[in-house]
Amino acid sequence: KFQLNQYTAEGLLGQGAFGKVYKAKDSSGNLVAIKIYNKKQLRHRWIGKAKTALFAVKCEIEVMEKLEHPNVLQLLEVIDNDDSNKIYMILEFAPGGTINDHSPMSEKEAKHYFKQLVLGMDYLHEKALVVHRDIKPLNLLLDANNNLKISDFGSAQEMANGRDEFSNSAGTWAFMAPELHGGNGSFQGRPVDIWAMGVTLFYMIEGKTPFNGRRLIDLYEAVKNEEVVVPDKFNEDLKDLILKMLNKDPEQRATLEQIKAHPWLKNV
Ligand code: ADP
Ligand code: MG
Ligand code: MG
Repeated sequence: KFQLNQYTAEGLLGQGAFGKVYKAKDSSGNLVAIKIYNKKQLRHRWIGKAKTALFAVKCEIEVMEKLEHPNVLQLLEVIDNDDSNKIYMILEFAPGGTINDHSPMSEKEAKHYFKQLVLGMDYLHEKALVVHRDIKPLNLLLDANNNLKISDFGSAQEMANGRDEFSNSAGTWAFMAPELHGGNGSFQGRPVDIWAMGVTLFYMIEGKTPFNGRRLIDLYEAVKNEEVVVPDKFNEDLKDLILKMLNKDPEQRATLEQIKAHPWLKNV
């Protein structure tokens, strides 16, 4: 338990590589989430040739400050004082847990959430010009009304001036597109998120990811060279959509426009 300005922290919600997330109440009794980073610790972690984790957190905040959409977790306030070693991100509280907690789920339920994921991603890619780069069930939260909220912008990048290529790769291994594996950092724009959405949709219904490997190189091998095996219980429309999202060639992979118009999302 701790007090921070008007916020009273209650309990731990989650813990990631760099940050801890607490549940808290503001002065009016509304629940919020507080993501806390330790600046000193971040300065000592290198995430690239010339970047520390502190730089990444500044980017996470800068990106999130620009976002406002019903399917994107809202950043409410940032508390970062020079005389404090901590950075606090005050976030909309998502009481429904993560998509991971609810997987595997029925196809009907998956469709409900996936439609909202598409709306949030469409906003990010087309309006905000942001590539998320870490889409996965653990980063998709649910509010009290079962609305999906895309969260964790710790790997996100802005597509400034039409640029949609980044030289460093990011993400979570089992959700990373083939073009991210093997040190090829030449094409990592929107299609990287589409691939991760495809893996996520598969995971929601099947409860596991489509590509696996005992070691990292076995996983790479599968992602790069193996055809997806779609379980029999997936109907033809769903199968078709997943195969199009998991196209190994980023230039051939389904776009959000194509996903929005796909029969699986249109049919009830
Ligand atoms: P990391 O970058 O360390 O992965 P996240 O922002 O993904 O941090 O948060 C870690 C975990 O904390 C999430 O997977 C989720 O379980 C929980 N969490 C994060 N934000 C919230 C929130 N706003 N409401 C409820 N739980 C949250
Ligand atoms: Mg996360
Ligand atoms: Mg993160």
